[in-house]
Amino acid sequence: MLKTKSKQSESLSFQKSQKHFLIYWFIFWTIFLCVLGIFFTPFVKAFALQTHVAPPSIKSTSAPLSKKLVPTKVLSATSAPVQTYSGYCLRVPVLMYHHIQPWADAQVKKQISLTVDNGTFENQMAYLQSHGYQSATAKALVDALRNHSGLPAKTVVLTFDDGYRDNYTYAFPVLKKYGLTGNLLLASGLMEGPDYLTWSQVSDMKSNYYFVDHTWSHASLGNAAADKIHYEVETAKNQIQDHTGQTVDIFGYPYGSFGSGVISILQADGFLGAFSTIPGTMQCDSFIMALHRTRIGNSSLAGYGL
Ligand SMILES: [Zn+2]
Repeated sequence: MLKTKSKQSESLSFQKSQKHFLIYWFIFWTIFLCVLGIFFTPFVKAFALQTHVAPPSIKSTSAPLSKKLVPTKVLSATSAPVQTYSGYCLRVPVLMYHHIQPWADAQVKKQISLTVDNGTFENQMAYLQSHGYQSATAKALVDALRNHSGLPAKTVVLTFDDGYRDNYTYAFPVLKKYGLTGNLLLASGLMEGPDYLTWSQVSDMKSNYYFVDHTWSHASLGNAAADKIHYEVETAKNQIQDHTGQTVDIFGYPYGSFGSGVISILQADGFLGAFSTIPGTMQCDSFIMALHRTRIGNSSLAGYGL
């Protein structure tokens, strides 16, 4: 009997201590969660703000984005990776083309990777016109960045690399038709060769094109010796100037290959700006010797943010 009583009181005291334990446990977690909330709220807010920064409009607004030397942070549409721009910047898409020819010809010549079909190209140029875009020379873009002056809203720069003969046959008439200006990046030593423009054609194209140095032999300059860089850059500059009468002081790197050595030589030779193949529509005076370009393929320009 005594044993049973003692067992009952034992069981009661166990239930009591279990109750107390649960109460303490509840209080502990309440306090802990409150402290946690107070401590982390600022971080959560900061993170939320960061991920909700509106991505920049991809549409061409050529108004100056930053006049002071204050870094301008721009988040890409997916919020990553983050690119930082500094200096005086303009959002100007520089469109990069190579061959413009019928797709069937490109297939025969195994040039499809560098070809935009001529019909597609005409649609793209019509799109630019109907959407209020205007085309600028490479020189106008470089001058605007150097002088910190704006360009009209919806400005694009059309570039055509290497100097292929199909540019004369298929692109030139379309640019004339839509009143657009192109920029030819000429590898001067290749002119007159099979599949390349003749100097007489280049001269004809002066009405709608600005000419840019793209080396003499389409050489990759990133790791080249100084004497080779000098020869490639200066020979092309002189040949293009002799054949067109236009001053040549803008450059385009073959294969997008460049380094600080090439930039130093270009600047010593009086070049004011250069095109890379780094993608992007933001152009800044802080990287005027490595301006960004958008490689255009066979889809609508709407697909490239235009
Ligand atoms: Zn090229």
